[in-house]
Amino acid sequence: MNVTVNASLDEDVGVAGGTLTVDLRALRDNYSNLVRRSAQAITAAVVKADAYGLGAAQVSRVLYADGCRTFFVAHFVEAVRLRPTLPRDAAIYVLNGLQPGNEAIAAKAGVVPILNSAVQARNWLATARTLDITLPAAIQADTGMSRLGMAEQEVAEVLRLPGFRERLEIKYLLSHLACADDHTNVLNQKQLEAMSRVAAMLPDIPVSFANSGGIFLGGDYLGALTRPGISLYGGAATSGHPNAMKPVVRLGVRVIQVRTVPAGTAVGYGGAHVTAREARLATISAGYADGLPRNLGNGGAAYYGDIRLPIVGRVSMDSLSIDVTSLPANTLSLGSQVELIGPHQSLEQIADAADTISYEILTRLGQRYRRNYIQS
Ligand SMILES: *Cc1c(COP(=O)(O)O)cnc(C)c1O
Repeated sequence: MNVTVNASLDEDVGVAGGTLTVDLRALRDNYSNLVRRSAQAITAAVVKADAYGLGAAQVSRVLYADGCRTFFVAHFVEAVRLRPTLPRDAAIYVLNGLQPGNEAIAAKAGVVPILNSAVQARNWLATARTLDITLPAAIQADTGMSRLGMAEQEVAEVLRLPGFRERLEIKYLLSHLACADDHTNVLNQKQLEAMSRVAAMLPDIPVSFANSGGIFLGGDYLGALTRPGISLYGGAATSGHPNAMKPVVRLGVRVIQVRTVPAGTAVGYGGAHVTAREARLATISAGYADGLPRNLGNGGAAYYGDIRLPIVGRVSMDSLSIDVTSLPANTLSLGSQVELIGPHQSLEQIADAADTISYEILTRLGQRYRRNYIQS
């Protein structure tokens, strides 16, 4: 017997264990909101890690249509994948810079590296010489994060490299804020001061400083080019403040089994939950391999309408159990979807419940959901 399977995750059929809805209208609204807040600065889009898990090609395409021409990825491989999906006048910057040996490919592909060290600067300069062309680049200064970028002294050293300003077209001087989500943190002001000192060495080069949190710091933090990521995708940029962004992501997960168990029944790996009374349990079709953190076990929840359905026992790789006793019997059946992210549980709320941040929830969502891109 021949059985042909035509179903794909792109079709509106019950193949996948859950549906990840990406609201491109909300994404675009968030972009225009950030453009407004960026005032005189140009607003780029940070689409690293597959646009925080939402699809770099899809996200970049709609933002390009709305006027965005500057995109940031973290790894060179991401730039190589994104390049063919965007028109040539879109600039793609690689935040982590290039590994030795990738320079010629980057030059040919039209990808712009961030020069994070004197070594990277020398290699890029050598490539420009070899190809006998001028190559674009951005310089990153480390102003207080000690992660990527050059210290003040190293920037000065690089600027003295023979031919540096002739062979390389320096588009931006970048730095990254370590504490931009906390407006009261004194490190923000310290980094701004350090950035001004470095910028004084390159008075003709525009500055790019603000990530999402930096945009909300406003004023001098905005520079000439802002680099929002999380705010585009609906995350909160500033802790302890209401989130001004529209939610972009919804996640619904299917019920794959419902059972009633007596009091004293162990649930899941390790028997980490034992029912205190007779309970109705639903098993849903997503687990930690789908980006639902293990520490949602015995603490997190799903929602059905307004009803909170606690996660009971440990989160398995491919499924987890919720206690649905509070719902009238037969409310949920095979194929019903419960909400993991949506109007009743925001991205921030599920991140809090898992003791992590929205960035980690988004970037781990995984590939097993049906992805539904909508323009609400
Ligand atoms: C990830 C990243 C951003 C975007 O940060 P958000 O907090 O998501 O807005 C901007 N700049 C650099 C250097 C980054 O690594």
